[in-house]
Amino acid sequence: MTARPSPNCGPRRDGLTPSLVVLHYTAMHSAEAAIERLCDPAAEVSAHYLISITGAVTMMVPEDKRAWHAGAGSWRGQDDINSRSIGIELDNLGNHPFAESQMASLETLLQAIMTRWGIAANGVIGHSDMAPGRKIDPGPHFDWARLARQGLAAQTVAQSPETVDEDSFASRAHAAGYPQDTPFETLLATTRLRSAPWRGGPLTHADYTLPSI
Ligand SMILES: [Zn+2]
Repeated sequence: MTARPSPNCGPRRDGLTPSLVVLHYTAMHSAEAAIERLCDPAAEVSAHYLISITGAVTMMVPEDKRAWHAGAGSWRGQDDINSRSIGIELDNLGNHPFAESQMASLETLLQAIMTRWGIAANGVIGHSDMAPGRKIDPGPHFDWARLARQGLAAQTVAQSPETVDEDSFASRAHAAGYPQDTPFETLLATTRLRSAPWRGGPLTHADYTLPSI
């Protein structure tokens, strides 16, 4: 692991410690370009870690500090996600699969972070989960099932709704952690990123497969 300290950080508010990990993709053409941006005071963004496509890990913000990666949004009814989370950027444009070596490094890093801070599998979320409609990363190519099999993200569990309709779906998605004020179509598209990223069309029974609480 190499260190490239970013000035874009501060103390966590209200004495909060990390209870979430938020995964991102950089949407940039190289890890180096992304690191420069995440360390640029004018950009006012950062993350704790960046993992390149070769699996090299760069640390930019110490874990006990508040990095600026999440922005507006919420999860499980709680906002200021930056104060509650550790942010990991994955070097990926968003339109192609994630490299095997990169996934392996992510798994090693996640395991260590989750052990250090006592973070459960359901505390590992995507930027899209906490900011539906505003963010879609880590996107449809990210292999959530792979993480879930190793206990590094929540399993998605098929539920048995009595009726398949927008209201019952929204209430179950909110119970799983998704923000309350999300328009239905956005909520559906966002939850599909976790369970069935390539599914389109109207709400079906199969969409009631949500991250376990
Ligand atoms: Zn992001």
